[in-house]
Amino acid sequence: MQNNLIEIKNLFVEYKIESALNEQKKVFAVNDLSLDIKRGEIFSIAGESGCGKSTLGKAILRLVDVKSGEICSLIDNSYKNILKLNKKELKKFRQQSQIIFQNPYSSLNPKMKIYDILKEPLIVNKELESLRSLTKKDIDQIILDTIEQVGLDRSALSLYPHEFSGGQRQRIAIARALVLKPQFIVADEPVSALDVSIQAQIINLLNYLKEKFNLTFLFISHDLSVIKYLSDRVGIMYLGEIVEIGTSEDIFNTPKHPYTEALLSANPGNKKDKIILTGDLPSPSDLPLGCKFHTRCQHAMEICKTVTPSKTQFSETHCTYCHLYQNGER
Ligand code: SF4
Repeated sequence: MQNNLIEIKNLFVEYKIESALNEQKKVFAVNDLSLDIKRGEIFSIAGESGCGKSTLGKAILRLVDVKSGEICSLIDNSYKNILKLNKKELKKFRQQSQIIFQNPYSSLNPKMKIYDILKEPLIVNKELESLRSLTKKDIDQIILDTIEQVGLDRSALSLYPHEFSGGQRQRIAIARALVLKPQFIVADEPVSALDVSIQAQIINLLNYLKEKFNLTFLFISHDLSVIKYLSDRVGIMYLGEIVEIGTSEDIFNTPKHPYTEALLSANPGNKKDKIILTGDLPSPSDLPLGCKFHTRCQHAMEICKTVTPSKTQFSETHCTYCHLYQNGER
């Protein structure tokens, strides 16, 4: 059985924006990014705001245009580049890959009852082989099962989104993602709009659903405590690039990249000295040569300003991109 559900190779995503002086500028949101997401794991992406985390998640679901690269996904047991799918394959991919957005207040249609919100994906995708022969009774049963799987009572189905709390709305958004029985879910900051007291409940629910349905998650968050608790593996992203990948233990116990070290040191639970980053954060429309972190890195060397670091592999699970390890400095 194939181990990876998603394989990304040399992915580039660019946006065009207009500057205050009406000049067209390119924003390099994802730059030459490669990674694999294994079947049944929670792979988290961490990094500062604007580093390209959400763009990566949207690119994998084809919600934004990709400039170049490959995103392969297992569809009907064979890897297909999702950027080149035909209409039928794309439908199938959309059924098996879903997204949970950050804000459950804006992601649910306020004019629809919860029953209709959950029914909509089943109707929109009714040409799919797995849904074609469903009767109204089958659809009602799927909706009922799904609302209960996310911990809500069936009476919720006759209500509108505004009648629920933030945590309950996020449960409904999760139910909507689940109703098509996906394999892969992008969870884009799914708890950051919620009260701290509710966050743990939603995190535990995602973990429970992952186990129950053998789901694979790309979990996007800036909250390192949540990432540490939930993730099997973690990718650290800086200005559109992955700078380190490892298991949760690799990243949190033995971080290797200076940016990862700085990020972890800023986490409220950190007991070591805080690393204060000085130097300017480059604009994503004007990226520096060499290592993109060199303008802020306390270990930067001459080579870092011109040469992009290649991969250093520490173990089967842990790698980073930094000249310190290639130059024998560490
Ligand atoms: Fe710092 Fe150089 Fe490593 Fe980049 S490559 S993180 S600038 S030491």
